[in-house]
Amino acid sequence: MKFNRIVIKVGSALISPDNNGCSGKYIKAIAHFITQCRKANIEVILVSSGSVAAGRHLIKHGSPTLSIPAKQAMASVGQMQMMANWQQFFDVPCSQLLITHGDLKDRERYTNIKNTLSTLLANNIIPIVNENDTVATEELKVGDNDNLAALVALLSEADSLFILSDINGVYNKNPKTHDDAVMINEIAEITNDVYAMAGATNNPIATGGMKTKIQAAEKAVESGIETYILNGTNSQVFEKILAGENPGTRFLANKNINNAKKHWIKYTLKSHGKIMLDSGAVNVVKFKGASLLPSGIVDITGEFLAGDAIELIDSTTKNVIAKGICQYSHRDLARIKGKNTEDIERILGFYPSTEVVHRDDMVML
Ligand code: GLU
Repeated sequence: MKFNRIVIKVGSALISPDNNGCSGKYIKAIAHFITQCRKANIEVILVSSGSVAAGRHLIKHGSPTLSIPAKQAMASVGQMQMMANWQQFFDVPCSQLLITHGDLKDRERYTNIKNTLSTLLANNIIPIVNENDTVATEELKVGDNDNLAALVALLSEADSLFILSDINGVYNKNPKTHDDAVMINEIAEITNDVYAMAGATNNPIATGGMKTKIQAAEKAVESGIETYILNGTNSQVFEKILAGENPGTRFLANKNINNAKKHWIKYTLKSHGKIMLDSGAVNVVKFKGASLLPSGIVDITGEFLAGDAIELIDSTTKNVIAKGICQYSHRDLARIKGKNTEDIERILGFYPSTEVVHRDDMVML
């Protein structure tokens, strides 16, 4: 294998195939694969789902639709079981990292996670990441571990992301209902057609299904991280990967890698509001590489503080043209919208920046 550092995401269906506590059924072969990778000097970060599934039988719940507190309690008790399940298959120590989207979008915490991961790897420890389900409210959640794994791959500067579930890869049609469905071995570009095919391949049991896997692949390949969707129930898949073959669907990494900050803005930061631009501002932002000034703003929605991410919208077409970090809160912006830069200080009584969104803090969509 040509990899140096890989992130492996393991779905709940592999941890708890019967949805009733943890099982070693598939994990054993996956752990063996990880050990083989480590022997070949490949660093491995594991992103493991399954805490809710592992704790499900230990928390009383009446209805099949679980309440949030029930799920959080399941995650809390199941997380330990899931970690213990992994640890028994390794001779080296495993470590636990529970993180939320709220942690990833905070620059300081992001850096702490990055430093912890590299220290763990340097000490031959296997980091196992999961979302901190107990504390994650909707606002703080990544929501699915496919996207979390992609964010971890970006943060740890991995060269590959392996998404393991109980599906072989992406098919052109639903393989459960079409005998002539064919698996796509290689995807060079993630287009709407790929998302449409992913819909056809969906597995109703998984948290995110195929769509979140494609989203994760999209995030990763744009950062130059090759991504595979593989069937983790089939141990031959691992032998093939170790032999340099591709037994699933491979998404080719983009060669023109965007810089890390722009990726952080695009994928990690959540947007807190929208700024509507007049046609002049749309033109200079879109085609002239300019920053956004207050004069081009016609309207604002949402509540945000200086430093939050917002979306820039073409007020005529209503299309999102860019995302960026806003230098002003929504309150201050409401007072200076449409005004000239020279008027900012007179209106607000202070003057933090000429630009509302600086070009360096902006990513085009
Ligand atoms: N964090 C969830 C769990 O451990 C899983 C989320 C997912 O599988 O996408 O159960």
